[in-house]
Amino acid sequence: MSETELSHYDTRSAICEYGRSLLDDDLTTGTGGNLSARLDEEHVAISPSGVPYEDITPADVPVVRTDGTVVEGDVEPSTELPMHLAVYENRPDVGGVVHTHSPYATTFASLGEAIPASHYLLSFTGSEVPVAEYETHATQELGEAAVDALGGEYNATLLRNHGVLTADEDLDSAYTVALMVEYCARIHYQARAIGEPEILPDDEIDRLSEKLDSYGQ
Ligand code: 13P
Ligand code: ZN
Repeated sequence: MSETELSHYDTRSAICEYGRSLLDDDLTTGTGGNLSARLDEEHVAISPSGVPYEDITPADVPVVRTDGTVVEGDVEPSTELPMHLAVYENRPDVGGVVHTHSPYATTFASLGEAIPASHYLLSFTGSEVPVAEYETHATQELGEAAVDALGGEYNATLLRNHGVLTADEDLDSAYTVALMVEYCARIHYQARAIGEPEILPDDEIDRLSEKLDSYGQ
C-alpha cells in the first residue's frame, strides 16, 4: 500500500471503531448516526449508509470527493453526506464530524431548546449547544441549517427533532465532543427534573475553554 492508501486505511478503520463505540456508548441505536473525517483538501471518508456498525470493514468505508463523488468503497455513503460536506466546506478548522441520536441531547432537540452550561464540561462545545432549524434528514437544507447554527464558534449543535452534530479538529475530538454533549444534556435534564440548575456565565466559559485547551499530558 502507498503512504496515502495507508493513511486512508487508518482513517477508514477509525470510522469503523468509532461507529461501534456509538452503540457501546449509547450515542445511537441501530444504524442511526454517521461519522466522517477529512483526508485532505479534496477528500473525506464517511461511514456507509444503513450498514450495521458491527459489520462495517475499512474497505466498506467510502472515500468521497468534496463534490460528493465516491472514489473508493463498494457501499453507498451515508445519506447525511451533504450535511458533512457542508460543514467541511464552511469550517476549514474542522477535520472530523460526528452525527448521533444520543437520547438526552435529542430530548432537548425535540423540545427545540438549546442546552445551556449547567455543567462546566459544556465548555467543550462553546457557551451552549444551539439548535439548528428543523429540516428533513438527508437534505442539503439540513446541512445549511447545521452550518448556520454552528457558525464559526460552536463545535456542536442540536438538529431539531432529530439528533446532534459535532465538529472538531479531528475525528477523535469530534467523538469526545459528542460524549460531552450527551453527558451535559443528561446532567441538565436530571437537574431540571428536581430543581433549577444554575447556568455558568460567559466569562467563566471563556476561562474554562482556555483551561481545556491545555488539559491533559
Ligand atoms: P445513514 O445510515 O444513511 O448514515 O443515516 C443515518 C442517520 O442518522 C440519518 O440521519
Ligand atoms: Zn440522523
